[in-house]
Amino acid sequence: LGSSLQDFDFFYFVQQWPPSYCDSRHSCCYPTTGKPNEDFTIHGLWPNYNDGKWPSNCDQQTSLHKSEISDLMSKMQKDWPTLACPSGDGMKFWGHEWGKHGTCTSLDQHSYFQAALQLKNNSNLLQVLGNAGIRPGNFYSVERIKQAIEEGVGHAPFIDCNVDASGNHQLFQVYLCVDTSSTKFIKCPVLPHGRCGSRIEFPSFSNVSESHDEF
Ligand code: 5GP
Ligand code: 5GP
Ligand code: 5GP
Repeated sequence: LGSSLQDFDFFYFVQQWPPSYCDSRHSCCYPTTGKPNEDFTIHGLWPNYNDGKWPSNCDQQTSLHKSEISDLMSKMQKDWPTLACPSGDGMKFWGHEWGKHGTCTSLDQHSYFQAALQLKNNSNLLQVLGNAGIRPGNFYSVERIKQAIEEGVGHAPFIDCNVDASGNHQLFQVYLCVDTSSTKFIKCPVLPHGRCGSRIEFPSFSNVSESHDEF
């Protein structure tokens, strides 16, 4: 019983755009394993209820064990890097995501992280946007970005924005909804809160500088 109960309705699969994490007020620190590529990276795979609420921290007893995911490590470093300061190897971020969200699924640690890595591959956001002529370094309407992702992935995303140091609203995170099998994108049953403003920046890494740990 306990953590084996699958008591949720769908997943949010949330990807972040590293340049937007890094050029915001809190800044960022590159992981100890190296500067991330200019590509979307994983934030998390979050079980959710259809009413907008969600379960969290469902099993305080099991922490993330490196030995369970050792074969996934090089993909995790590339596709799920931590950008928070101080610089880390990712285990703290992954352990947080496992404890807060992963423990509320019926997946074991390996299956949970593998499912998220597979979903990132399958959504292929940077290429989907590029196919629609949407490239880092420019401003676009939120509607155009949403439409491109809907065409490429099959379902409309929720777009989450943040603000850069100059006050520009920018593409920060893309939420896709996934069925409880953790494999199939679905229409979102409910959307998170938040607004972007109609025209947003899709910033490039080239004009972002890394913070040092004292920030
Ligand atoms: P924030 O307040 O920064 O949007 O979210 C803080 C944290 O709360 C997220 O990292 C995530 O762990 C959790 N969270 C926020 N919104 C949602 C949501 O709509 N669904 C789920 N499952 N978790 C969320
Ligand atoms: P959430 O609770 O929002 O799912 O997870 C966010 C937590 O993970 C925060 O405590 C944040 O500091 C930490 N974290 C570490 N690395 C990252 C990262 O690259 N992106 C985000 N969004 N949070 C990170
Ligand atoms: P509507 O209610 O017509 O869908 O959108 C109203 C406003 O919300 C518009 O300014 C639009 O740019 C913004 N918006 C539409 N879809 C999204 C979304 O998925 N995420 C966010 N943050 N804003 C959106």
